[in-house]
Amino acid sequence: MSSYNSFEVEQQQVLEAAKILNLDKATCELLLWPQREFKFTMPVKMDNGEVKMFHGYRIQYNYARGPAKGGIRFHPDETVDTIRALAGWMTWKTAVLDLPLGGGKGGVVCDPRNMSDRELENISRAYVRAVAQYIGVDKDVPAPDVYTNPQTMAWMMDEYETILNVHQPGVMTDKPMQIGGTEGRRDATARGGVICVREACKVLGVDPHGTFAIQGFGNAGQRAALVHQELLGGGKLIAVCDSRGGIHNPDGLNPKDLVMHKLKTGSVVGFPGSNPIARDSVLELDVQVLYPAALENSINQNNVSAIKARVICELANGPTTPDADIILHKKGLHVIPDILASAGGVTVSYFEMVQDKYSFFWNEKVVHTRLDEKISKAYHTVQEAIKEKKVHPRLAAMVVGVARVAEACKLRGWV
Ligand code: GLU
Repeated sequence: MSSYNSFEVEQQQVLEAAKILNLDKATCELLLWPQREFKFTMPVKMDNGEVKMFHGYRIQYNYARGPAKGGIRFHPDETVDTIRALAGWMTWKTAVLDLPLGGGKGGVVCDPRNMSDRELENISRAYVRAVAQYIGVDKDVPAPDVYTNPQTMAWMMDEYETILNVHQPGVMTDKPMQIGGTEGRRDATARGGVICVREACKVLGVDPHGTFAIQGFGNAGQRAALVHQELLGGGKLIAVCDSRGGIHNPDGLNPKDLVMHKLKTGSVVGFPGSNPIARDSVLELDVQVLYPAALENSINQNNVSAIKARVICELANGPTTPDADIILHKKGLHVIPDILASAGGVTVSYFEMVQDKYSFFWNEKVVHTRLDEKISKAYHTVQEAIKEKKVHPRLAAMVVGVARVAEACKLRGWV
């Protein structure tokens, strides 16, 4: 793990945006801190009969614009501060997209890579028992994040409905389609990012069919590999890495085969026809588009000078540190910041909430069209803020998001 504290990074970003917006002291203080934080210890029965204690969090950063919204992450490196930062970024993300939602995030300190399905189900259900009173369709709506998926959401939704004796599938999003999930949610994060890349290519006047590389090959990374070529009608994927290593082929890697290999073996390493390369060097290749799709702080002062990609589309949350951000900007690279580039997921989550409320479901084409409208509009709103405020893209996106949340807090009479 890096030495950066993500929450301090997020707070610094809020402060910079607040300064540009001339926010008063009370509003600034309100936006610097989560409104509610829940911390709990969960006893969970393991397969060997032992009971193990797990630490869980749910943080509702701000709910002035609507119910808190954001994923639940299962990860060994989780801390209260990573969850605070991620909850904050969800707040700015939903605001940049102009969704009627606030921001939240949850997490459990655990390593799902060493756990059975039954143990994961026990943790998921224990988590919901701890937070059932504090979440809900109108309060706080979780979704998957790193190392959680639609199955996790299905267990969690079931536990919630059992405890409350209600039918309320909209309490979680990115559920399996058979039990209230929506079309188009699984690749929504990647699709949102690729839509931004398409718009960026138009703005920059560059050909969208160049080379691209992906750092991180979880759900967002895998889907980006597929959606990039589909939506842009081409492009050559030349390098990918995941937590076990990196691979490279200057002639191109076949995304479909690579995803199959990852699902079968658990890693991209050893993909036939590829050469192994160091994990971090995937970030430093001379490509047209780079998708950071792993964890926080991947682009930092140690590697930023080597980064050459023309467009950097941040599918991960918080992949770039503030010092690296300034250097990317000075180098003239086009950064599509996380709170915009990775917002496709939560946008389709919002569509899922709407459909669950009405028990009436849209087809994939409708989901894709509405997603495209929302993301394209947000992309150009941020472009305008870059020009108007003369700031780098992340700060511009933060200014858009923070202004909207501040306004909601003021209208409610909170500050
Ligand atoms: N975990 C995803 C994110 O970071 C999705 C959140 C959601 O759909 O609520 O944006």
